[in-house]
Amino acid sequence: MEGLTASEVAGFGVGTVLLCATIAAPKLDAFFSASQRSSLGMCKKCGDVGMIACSRCKGMGLIKSNGLFGFSIMDELYPPLDGAESQMKSIGCSKCKGRGHFCCPACSNKPQV
Ligand SMILES: [Zn+2]
Ligand SMILES: [Zn+2]
Repeated sequence: MEGLTASEVAGFGVGTVLLCATIAAPKLDAFFSASQRSSLGMCKKCGDVGMIACSRCKGMGLIKSNGLFGFSIMDELYPPLDGAESQMKSIGCSKCKGRGHFCCPACSNKPQV
């Protein structure tokens, strides 16, 4: 590491931190969300988005179905082979009615600004 100037080391450090921050941003957002949101007076559940992603369809609003079953368990155990995908169809999620999200219960009680 000899030959590196202090500014080069600092630049490398900053670059690494920025890179890490970029990669870890979603995780950091989730990590800080609760405390940050409460300190900012934001909704702890949704961060003032007003919506919460559906847990059943992962916010997609659709669930893969093979027709015979409500939703495919096989799909998770056995990844679809070539051609099998075409037999799969996506049905609207019954839990969120295909919207992929719910209105935040915490925010729905609050008067909207
Ligand atoms: Zn859903
Ligand atoms: Zn909320």
